[in-house]
Amino acid sequence: MLDWSEKRPVPSHIPASSTETTGLGDIDRAGGRVSVDDKAMINCRADVNQLLPLKYKWAWEKYLAACNNHWMPTEVSMQADIALWKSRDGLTEDERRMIKRNLGFFAASESLVANNIVLAIYRHLTNPECRQYLLRQAFEEAVHTHTFQYIVESLGLDEGELFNMYREVPSITDKAAWALKHTQGIENPSFATGTPEADQAFLRDLVAFYVIFEGMWFYTGFAQILALGRRNKMVGIAEQYQYILRDESIHLNFGIDVINQIKFENPHLWTPSFQEEIRTMLREGAELEAAYGRDTMPRGFLGLNAALCEQYMHFIANRRCGQLGLMAVFPETENPFPWMSEAMDLKKEKNFFETRVIDYQSGGALAWD
Ligand code: MN
Ligand code: FE
Repeated sequence: MLDWSEKRPVPSHIPASSTETTGLGDIDRAGGRVSVDDKAMINCRADVNQLLPLKYKWAWEKYLAACNNHWMPTEVSMQADIALWKSRDGLTEDERRMIKRNLGFFAASESLVANNIVLAIYRHLTNPECRQYLLRQAFEEAVHTHTFQYIVESLGLDEGELFNMYREVPSITDKAAWALKHTQGIENPSFATGTPEADQAFLRDLVAFYVIFEGMWFYTGFAQILALGRRNKMVGIAEQYQYILRDESIHLNFGIDVINQIKFENPHLWTPSFQEEIRTMLREGAELEAAYGRDTMPRGFLGLNAALCEQYMHFIANRRCGQLGLMAVFPETENPFPWMSEAMDLKKEKNFFETRVIDYQSGGALAWD
């Protein structure tokens, strides 16, 4: 049996004083230069303050793609949404309930995701090009939180009600609490990667936040609002959600790449029992989302109901399994919202909602997920 508890040997040209993985340790004035082979996703002893030479081109490319997708929520007109929200009969009570819970779920979730990457993930991801992307992602999460501030202000919603839903609405609390359970251990200042148990805990947090929170739960959230947008309702919010969806699809794919790269570099972590554990997490994530769907849409309405959202979650969960190299967790099912993949390509959406759409993408094709 191999003893995995043994620390990885420090490459001879990397002096012991630069073995701090944060990048904030003492500077080694006589330290050697970083070579690509010294770089690693986790537990790396090469200087994390040297971006170049690049090792993970996929991380750098996602950073560039994200920068090309810059947008601000305040550039989207809310006039039609305000008129509809204030009208007496433009929206049904069921639609209003879904919109409010959807906004309430996202409003605090963007902060949870931001805090997780900044306070838990960043420190332990010992690669500068991945950190470069995380810094961009952190800003995007701030833009997303700003979006909900802007929506609350525009529609005159009760800010306390919306931002407290993650504490006050059990189906939302259950999701947040489930994800936080995976962040709590690794956010602890005394937590360090470097043992199989700790490295697996880190992987669990990546799965919980990138694959399940952003990669599953957000997707039903997008589907709910975009289903309304397709019927010409709340078109300003729908347009903002399209921009968020475009950002989130890079967040998701960055997370998948990070997890797969860590697996590749540390195959001993990806044991059959650990794979089963991850599959169970995906199944639990889908079940929590189904409960949220029943709670937010007890009756359903045109084009959208809890059963369709549950089916969509099964479809998405299976797809995420495939992206992680895992066996599907649900029987094969059709995508009940095939239009969601169209909604991801903003270039097709110029006249979709008939609002002012700015084409922020300044280069490259949008083809994620
Ligand atoms: Mn976000
Ligand atoms: Fe995100």
